[in-house]
Amino acid sequence: MDATGCYIIPGLIDCHVHLTSSGNPRELNGGRGQPLPQRAWKAAGYAKATLEAGITTVRDLGAAERLNVEMASAIANGLIPGPRMFAAGLGVTMTGGHGHGFVATEADGPDGVRRAVREQLRAGATAIKLFASGGVMTPGVDPRSPSFTEDELRAGVEEAHKAFRVVAAHAQATDGIKNALRAGVDSVEHGIWLDDEAIQLMLDQGTYLVATLTAPFQIQNNGLEAGIPQFVVDKGTRVLEDHEASFRAAVAAGVNIAMGTDQGTPVNRPGENAQELVRMVQLGLSPATALMASTAWAADLLKVSNEVGRVEPGLAADLVILDRDPLASIEALTDQSAIRTVIQAGAVVRSSLPRTEE
Ligand SMILES: [Zn+2]
Repeated sequence: MDATGCYIIPGLIDCHVHLTSSGNPRELNGGRGQPLPQRAWKAAGYAKATLEAGITTVRDLGAAERLNVEMASAIANGLIPGPRMFAAGLGVTMTGGHGHGFVATEADGPDGVRRAVREQLRAGATAIKLFASGGVMTPGVDPRSPSFTEDELRAGVEEAHKAFRVVAAHAQATDGIKNALRAGVDSVEHGIWLDDEAIQLMLDQGTYLVATLTAPFQIQNNGLEAGIPQFVVDKGTRVLEDHEASFRAAVAAGVNIAMGTDQGTPVNRPGENAQELVRMVQLGLSPATALMASTAWAADLLKVSNEVGRVEPGLAADLVILDRDPLASIEALTDQSAIRTVIQAGAVVRSSLPRTEE
């Protein structure tokens, strides 16, 4: 194809999605009331929309009934189009902790956590998620409260690392973040209340921050009128300012950053993932750095840098071709008409570029 005058970047990597969820506030919990086949067919559409928007790899951090694991294998087997997908199955949370009855299974004590992680691995999980603090989307759970103890987290991390899986910790509260860091997780998700000690631990250990700035932003921006429940709006609004301050502090300190949206949270829709880059740039990353966090560094976190994340001989050709320079305007990545072509593993997913003669 003739890409004269265009810009070629690696396919984007979103390190925190819930690809089986629409982002429709009235369908929270992945539409759990609906029959599983209906949810699966809908989710196939979300996977397609995500891929067509230039997101060629995702890490899914929790789905009811482990629908994410089944979708990852359907995509890998070529049954449905979608991004390369790492899937955590269910996250693991303490009894009554964030995500319970929703995107997480409950476990207590180091042995209980160990077993719950093994159950995800048995079910085919290719990523592991542990909940180290409360969060916004579960009623009655305070995002400022830590959840698993350091010992519980360490047992989960050990099991995951034994199986060569990357571990994500949902961690918003300061103490929860530090417990997760001392336990050796690979990425801190959200990281709403980072203090100097947490930032130092992240620097010392090379831990990644996957901030998911889009999640609380969309909750605050859309509010009750969009059908978001009151308790979610209250908590999402309360965390926003501190979340952004923590992100700025982490960037200033030089913490590893990888892009993640928490797609599937209210009004955080599949295919709109690139809005996270715009938000990261607004909060202090250069456009080039935001792109690195969404490609090469994300691949480093997911330990797939020998496969994807860079435009390099020997890697899979996951490519996005734009007719606007994303370094001049990062918003180009959110403009579906500026994205002229998406290629996954060398195969054209969609293209509006003229074909040249063979
Ligand atoms: Zn999430």
